[in-house]
Amino acid sequence: MGSFELIGKHGDHEQVVFCHNKDVGLKAIIAIHNTALGPALGGTRMWNYKTEDEALIDVLRLSKGMSYKAAAAGLNLGGGKAVIIGDPKTQKSEALFRAFGRFVNSLNGRYITAEDVGTTVREMEYVFMETPWVTGIPKAFGGSGDPSPYTAHGVLMGIKASVKEQFKTDSLKGIRIAVQGLGNVGYHLVEYLAKEQAVLTVTDIDAEKTKRVSAQFGAKAVGPDEIISVECDVFSPCALGAVINDTSIRQLKTKVVCGGANNQLAEPRHGDMLREMGILYAPDYVTNAGGLMNVFVELEGYSPDRALDKTIQVYDNLLKVFAIANRDGVGTHTAADRMAEERISVIGKLKQSHQGFSSRPFSTLREVKNR
Ligand code: NAD
Repeated sequence: MGSFELIGKHGDHEQVVFCHNKDVGLKAIIAIHNTALGPALGGTRMWNYKTEDEALIDVLRLSKGMSYKAAAAGLNLGGGKAVIIGDPKTQKSEALFRAFGRFVNSLNGRYITAEDVGTTVREMEYVFMETPWVTGIPKAFGGSGDPSPYTAHGVLMGIKASVKEQFKTDSLKGIRIAVQGLGNVGYHLVEYLAKEQAVLTVTDIDAEKTKRVSAQFGAKAVGPDEIISVECDVFSPCALGAVINDTSIRQLKTKVVCGGANNQLAEPRHGDMLREMGILYAPDYVTNAGGLMNVFVELEGYSPDRALDKTIQVYDNLLKVFAIANRDGVGTHTAADRMAEERISVIGKLKQSHQGFSSRPFSTLREVKNR
């Protein structure tokens, strides 16, 4: 299949940019899915893709996902993503990332990048040498730093909304919550949940982490294979994708699935299955949008308080998703997509008429800061 055919098959992207620099060995693709709401934002993934088609399909899929995530979060951002083809363990260099940064710069803010799988703050510093259109840079440069605490706070709000919907209560006191994965997001989430006096069960494949977190927050520790079948009110995946699959779904003993992990459903049909089983699923990309909200605040001029405040929005966003699911009789994963598509369409249409030259441009990000 040719590249244009592949692009057509994987969504209605606005722009796909192939970036090549022979001297530094750069092969990258930037995909801008939709900018109806604002500049396309999404991280740069570095991965040893086996073929160029595999890289292209990945960037098309990921950038579309970012459009939905930003729209559902209520942010004035579009969806974009970049992939660099190469081994992140052996092929990273200052020159490679600065060359990439120059391509990002050439898009004049239509695409804003950040770190993702295979890239770190260090590489974003190189990108930042060539373009202001990068987020997630260190605090010393006016950046927002580690997004995980904000993601975790958003997940806490997501759990509160789900518990409200499913058990009609505003309190997490005594609610039994099983957390899978105690990394950056999981750790902060457990800390928040302990303060709310939830009854916690935790696990990580790193047994040391499990032991440490369980002791610190008075949580029950179980093995990684046991967590899926723990009898609980909320199962919170904060580790891997595809955790809800044909095998695991039959083992669940919960009434809610709500966590920070990306791509929790192995396939969309698993969302329908959860609905049929009476398990409320809080769609992952709505629940874990706190990190993106944090980055958005960075673009406006960073304030940690404002970022934390923004993540509270996850609560209302999820209640809206649940209402759409109830109204339309569909799974919550379908309802989330509908909510995102509706916002892109409605707000996008508002911008079709010219407002005259006296009005300020809608997007005042970075341009105003004149970085
Ligand atoms: P992380 O790498 O810091 O933590 C993941 C943890 O999960 C690790 O401690 C790992 O040992 C553990 N783990 C892996 N496989 C496991 C298994 N089978 N059972 C139990 N534990 C297992 O990553 P993170 O930043 O905490 O992100 C967690 C998830 O949330 C990922 O899916 C990520 O894509 C998603 N996410 C993170 C953010 C963020 O701000 N960090 C934002 C949005 C989404």
